[in-house]
Amino acid sequence: MASVSESRRVVVVGGGAAGASVAINLASHGLKPMVLETLREPESKVGECLPPTAAPILQRLGLADQLQRDGHLPSYGNRSVWGAPAPVERDFIFGTQGHGWQLDRARFEARLMDRARAEGVDWRGGVRLVECVWRDECWTLIVRTSSGDATLEADFVVDATGRASRLARRLGARQLRYDRLVGTACLLKSRSGNGIKDSFTLVEAVRSGWWYSARLPDEKLMAVFFTDHDLLDHEVLKADGWFALLRETEHTGRRVREGDYDPLAEPRVLAAHGSCLDVVAGERWLAVGDAAAAYDPLSSYGISAALGAGVYAASAIVDSLAGSRDALPAYRRIIEQSFAQYLIRHEEYYALERRWLDELFWKRRHEPVAQRA
Ligand SMILES: Cc1cc2nc3c(=O)[nH]c(=O)nc-3n(C[C@H](O)[C@H](O)[C@H](O)COP(=O)(O)OP(=O)(O)OC[C@H]3O[C@@H](n4cnc5c(N)ncnc54)[C@H](O)[C@@H]3O)c2cc1C
Repeated sequence: MASVSESRRVVVVGGGAAGASVAINLASHGLKPMVLETLREPESKVGECLPPTAAPILQRLGLADQLQRDGHLPSYGNRSVWGAPAPVERDFIFGTQGHGWQLDRARFEARLMDRARAEGVDWRGGVRLVECVWRDECWTLIVRTSSGDATLEADFVVDATGRASRLARRLGARQLRYDRLVGTACLLKSRSGNGIKDSFTLVEAVRSGWWYSARLPDEKLMAVFFTDHDLLDHEVLKADGWFALLRETEHTGRRVREGDYDPLAEPRVLAAHGSCLDVVAGERWLAVGDAAAAYDPLSSYGISAALGAGVYAASAIVDSLAGSRDALPAYRRIIEQSFAQYLIRHEEYYALERRWLDELFWKRRHEPVAQRA
């Protein structure tokens, strides 16, 4: 690994899992990066299942023992009703990396932010990037805060802004979309305070898409209905319509009845399509996490991929600032190859569900990838 002067200024835009990971890993190389995050404090995000394969990256980030203390729930497996009416279980006990987790995302991201600050990262909440241009041999960034606009300079900038890829698209990268998936998510709470004890994440395919549900701390349950944005029935955007659709499902409906759950708020619609930038890194910039490549949540891969890519991104930045011409192309290859592997696995998994091939949602998923988006 090359060494690089700690005075080199790296600005990471976005303080989610990817931004935090790249900043913590840069700090471990002796740099003092700055993170700009729109949110003043971490807020709850949808997407809470962290599979056991995240264990090595949690260890590296110094979080392996922290999750239990922070009150996240261990998860011992996945149950899927996919391709046939009977549920199939995958118990994590048969793997080598222990159990997974059901995260409270606001708590998890707050812990990542604290960890970054403890490593010397200059973390600035409530700061939104609005412009970034290369001028006089460095980046000039215009940022917006509650007290007005300010200008910053950087030697290297990182796009960790999530699926929107705000910075990379400003720098000319194009986002390639592979499907039209959206999730309609609702947080539920047990009325009786007697929610389910079942720690498995449940995935259930239905005629118009699929559902997942995961138990969360404080007697809550997250349930999300996925379909394509152009197929979404507008009734589902209201809690009553969404809940009525949920009650039609066999297995998800049963766990909601057993735990006596009720929606806490109106459903939220979230982009959930697979996408990848045509170029994930260029001269003095790179994209990481969902900003570089975003995965269908069926994979439960987004958070661990974002944390893991932070390690590669940090190494590539350090090497590139030290003068290596190979570092950024090598980083690009890592992201592109892992996205290509994801596309193959994604296609294989959807191919297993053949019960509703007359429905557009499923028909699209049995077509060659390039024709879908
Ligand atoms: C419905 C749904 C369910 C999911 N379920 C799972 C799951 O069970 N398991 C899993 O692993 N993954 C899941 N995911 C995916 C997972 O949430 C993402 O992969 C993960 O959040 C990616 O982290 P990130 O840091 O790249 O992006 P994000 O978490 O999106 O963070 C980006 C950050 O950038 C900030 N930002 C944006 N623009 C600016 C700007 N201009 N200036 C400053 N800051 C900015 C945002 O405020 C945000 O905090 C799910 C996703 C969806 C939509």
